[in-house]
Amino acid sequence: MKNTLQYAKEQDQNDPLKKFRDKFLLPTDKQGAPLIYLCGNSLGLQPKKTKQYLQEEMDDWAKYGVEGHTDARHPWLPYHEFLTEKMAKIVGAKPIEVVIMNSLTTNLHLMMVSFYQPTVSKHKIIIEKDAFPSDKYAVESQIQFHGYNPEDSLILWEPPKGEELCRFKDLEKLMQIHGNEVALLLIGNTNYYSGQLYPIKEITELGHLYNAKVGFDLAHGVGNIQPNLHDNAPDFAVWCTYKYLNSGPGSLGGCFVHEKHANNPNLKRFAGWWGHNKQTRFNMRHNFDVLPGAEGWQLSNPAILSMAAIRASLDIFDEAGFDNILKKSKKLTGHLEYLLTQIKNQNINIITPKNPEERGCQLSIQVKNADKSLHTKLTQAGVISDWREPDVIRVAPAPLYNSFEDVFTFVERLKHIL
Ligand SMILES: *Cc1c(COP(=O)(O)O)cnc(C)c1O
Repeated sequence: MKNTLQYAKEQDQNDPLKKFRDKFLLPTDKQGAPLIYLCGNSLGLQPKKTKQYLQEEMDDWAKYGVEGHTDARHPWLPYHEFLTEKMAKIVGAKPIEVVIMNSLTTNLHLMMVSFYQPTVSKHKIIIEKDAFPSDKYAVESQIQFHGYNPEDSLILWEPPKGEELCRFKDLEKLMQIHGNEVALLLIGNTNYYSGQLYPIKEITELGHLYNAKVGFDLAHGVGNIQPNLHDNAPDFAVWCTYKYLNSGPGSLGGCFVHEKHANNPNLKRFAGWWGHNKQTRFNMRHNFDVLPGAEGWQLSNPAILSMAAIRASLDIFDEAGFDNILKKSKKLTGHLEYLLTQIKNQNINIITPKNPEERGCQLSIQVKNADKSLHTKLTQAGVISDWREPDVIRVAPAPLYNSFEDVFTFVERLKHIL
């Protein structure tokens, strides 16, 4: 690797996915100059095709009214099924294990209704210390809903003192102490703050060894790492689609329920008519007849416009090939890491693991003695990144639309500001 613009441009020239950048609308500043957008971990960019996918649904709604449920080019009744196969590939699952529905936190609650069944002797939940706030609130409120107290029932998997990353060994130790009382392990993967990818297989096996259920929040994982959900076999996973999956602000979420639970009618759940047998759903008088697999957790008829945007995005992932995306991602983030380590400034420390197998595309850069004005200056210099108190900049070069030149320019501007 070389620390030159020339080298970055060569990498872009040789990038097998280079044409995909042009499939996205890249934000610009007030003068129309392109921004360096490194915030795909928060909100992915809009594919140019999305408008057309949405327009088709608007036109079909205008043309058919209610008949669009069956007569639209992509009929609305089974619309979620058009997404399932491509979505399943991205998370390494079987189609029966995956459904697009609701939003992430809603899905997390629905999954806990089924997979968090506390008893007096087994009521604890383990989450990582830096869990995303929404996940923590969801978990605490579930514990309280069942009549327990988070002070007794919620256990945090913490990094060693003075460090930022959690160690699997410490999770093992926690399970040695509390394992028999743990009902659920719920881990955010990758971690939104540190960018750390926790070992999905090992965590799942550890949880199951103690008869705990295991779930993952893949908000920062989906489209960014390959979780191989079927083979790694956690009980459930949830995610959103507006981060690395580029489906637009507040778009619908996704949910995985392992095949081993696909046909278990005894699992408790909160039900709605969209989880009911498709053949008899419109007879309206039947007792609840649950669909097999993840579809059986659906509640409502879904937002078609949002699903159209997800379809547009998944078509791009499918065309590029997720393995190719991951390959480029490793290179691009590796390049970013290399350039950052070339900055001669002792205040810079990359929190994210050095091992590419233990992270996705995001790097969390701690700048000691810095405050939020650093982030403001970066924004003024045309870099869109995000800031976490007290001193961390998160940057996530997204392999579908970010270039090696973006990464180079970002580091140059950061250097200049420092
Ligand atoms: C982005 C994110 C969320 C957001 O939840 P919504 O229900 O989509 O608002 C939740 N958890 C994690 C870990 C996230 O990264």
